Amino acid sequence: MIDSHCHLADEVFAPDLAEFVGRAREAGLAAACCILAAGDAGEAARARAVRAAWPAAKFAVGVHPHQAHEAAGAAGPLVCNQLTGDVPICAIGEIGLDYHYDFSPRAVQQEVFRSQVALAVGQNLPVIVHTREADEDTIAILREAGAGRVRGVIHCFTGGAELARQALDLGFLISLAGIVTFRSASALRDVARTVPDDRLLVETDSPFLAPVPHRGTRNEPAHVVRVAEALAELRETTIEAIEAHTTRNFHGLFGA
Ligand SMILES: [Zn+2]
Ligand SMILES: [Zn+2]
Repeated sequence: MIDSHCHLADEVFAPDLAEFVGRAREAGLAAACCILAAGDAGEAARARAVRAAWPAAKFAVGVHPHQAHEAAGAAGPLVCNQLTGDVPICAIGEIGLDYHYDFSPRAVQQEVFRSQVALAVGQNLPVIVHTREADEDTIAILREAGAGRVRGVIHCFTGGAELARQALDLGFLISLAGIVTFRSASALRDVARTVPDDRLLVETDSPFLAPVPHRGTRNEPAHVVRVAEALAELRETTIEAIEAHTTRNFHGLFGA
């Protein structure tokens, strides 16, 4: 199994990093994609520790919409600086729009998102997209960049059937997180049944968002197995099939 999106270089994991990596491996995880906040020197240093503890881990870097206001006008160069750092970068992310929290003005979020999508297209890297209550603008910006030119994944998908359809039309993958284990998330569970096998990824978004039965505790990459189990049940298939598809899709998007 592969956790397509976690924040393993977050400071909360640092004191017991070896323990979390050990538990991920024991749970059968072959790899993970570790998301880094562009320009965060502490996180960049911890990323080196993650790479040393888990050589199979991959890394992505981007300016999150929550931090867009701090990077306005400079997001591209900020990310660019980290593309040739000490850990290899396989994607630009997470980037996008978050109109739920609106921590940055929407126009600024859009400008920062757009510039990073352009950078990804120029670098031929996939994007990892965070979108919350911003479906239309997210799809519009991705469309502007051009279907077939921009590729990537909508991470921690929480949208409805329409966003899923539009993302799939653009050639994007859809990554599902622990929310699919919540019985209350019936619309999302319906989407989870219909994503084609070759477009599906699983993730934890740890340390955020723990799945059932770990809800309310600190999430960690090993818990991605719970997400895969929930998907196997929803899609009436086996966890081995979910593992095979999501592993192939992960490497197809982010490289071997
Ligand atoms: Zn996110
Ligand atoms: Zn995240």
